[in-house]
Amino acid sequence: MAIRKPKGTQDFLPEQIGNWHFIEQYMRDICKTYGFNEIRTPVFEDTKLFLRGIGETTDVVQKEMYTFSTGDHTDQTFTLRPENTASAVRAYLENKVYGKEGLTKWFYIGPMFRHDKPQAGRYRQFHQFGAEVLGSQSPVVDSEVICMILQLLRSFGLQDLNVEVNSVGCPNCRPAYREKLIAFFEPKKEQLCPDCQERLYKNPLRILDCKNETCKDLSVGAPEIHEHLCTECHDHFEEVKTLLDAANVQYNLNPRLVRGLDYYTKTAFEVQYTPLGAQSAVAGGGRYDGLVEQLEGPSTPAIGFAMGMERLLLALEKQNLLPEPAVDPSVFVVALGDAAKVEAFKIVQSVREHYIPCEMDGQGKSMKAQLKYANKINAKYVIILGDDELANGEAIVRFMETSEQETVPLSTISEHITSLVKG
Ligand code: AMP
Repeated sequence: MAIRKPKGTQDFLPEQIGNWHFIEQYMRDICKTYGFNEIRTPVFEDTKLFLRGIGETTDVVQKEMYTFSTGDHTDQTFTLRPENTASAVRAYLENKVYGKEGLTKWFYIGPMFRHDKPQAGRYRQFHQFGAEVLGSQSPVVDSEVICMILQLLRSFGLQDLNVEVNSVGCPNCRPAYREKLIAFFEPKKEQLCPDCQERLYKNPLRILDCKNETCKDLSVGAPEIHEHLCTECHDHFEEVKTLLDAANVQYNLNPRLVRGLDYYTKTAFEVQYTPLGAQSAVAGGGRYDGLVEQLEGPSTPAIGFAMGMERLLLALEKQNLLPEPAVDPSVFVVALGDAAKVEAFKIVQSVREHYIPCEMDGQGKSMKAQLKYANKINAKYVIILGDDELANGEAIVRFMETSEQETVPLSTISEHITSLVKG
């Protein structure tokens, strides 16, 4: 039986790659505008990084990690990265970046791996564009990353964007809220889904964003975090909102948007593209003021987000916002006979020296078939070299759009073509 690609993964063939380059270019441009520099970290890390950096009670860690051992260290396992924040923080600490820079602004683009149930917009290998700001607790950076995401998505022409924001408090104010939530859900424990029954004491905030319909119904009337924020978290959130208002960002307050772990603090947000339906979350992020310390670094406030690139492409495709593939003015050299083939090869190479796309036959085609192929690849100019032309030290240049032809000395053919293409 033929070997197939693993479930939940995709092949991207040349006709799709232009779309990836297109979105990646916009991402790099927006990051430059907002002062983010690119990082690249390994696609696999010590499993412990994700246990501590994402949290042992999360679905990602409990159910979705690709973990393996290499056999040479019996007790060490590695995991394909399910996200990039933990790796970024590890790189920040390992390279002692905190000692060198006041504020660190990084972005990344790359594949992530989660053993999730594949469906439209949900893959086992998918790609994220994300950014992290390390070293600032100012609400300015919270608002800035939200503005950056929106500017990027809008620059593609996407509308119908929904921004949801929340504050999840901090280790000062969350414990009291947590107790209230436990007290609220405890009498309904038996009705909660098995996952939420487990979350009840470990991570009760996560019950609020459970997708199970019964859990959703059971959480109606649950205490809201906004009423339990400490002054610092309250003021921080107010300022984030003031800044978003100042930048004309429309957002919805969503008290159910949670990240239940201790090192997630204050702002949490999600950007949805509603026409995508069930998988409408295009980007999500938030503050993680406690994570650097959790990974044994100096106390460093931080915020980040990640955007799903496949979801973005789905959205752009849905709205017909992907560009037509660009056709370069290209050159094809038609050669007949062995001697002409050698001369053609010389011409092809010297035209390519000018970074002009240029091809010749590599399959022993007839002259008619070579011309047909030149047409198919949209060659703008065709150079024809037969034995007669070769004997006269000449070549024919055909302008494919008009079928006009001219004779050019072989000695100047590549300069001639270069000036025709480059104008
Ligand atoms: P998260 O890291 O879970 O906060 O996800 C950030 C973004 O990555 C989401 O909003 C999605 O757009 C995207 N994403 C997460 N998981 C997947 C997946 N399995 N397949 C495709 N995109 C995903």
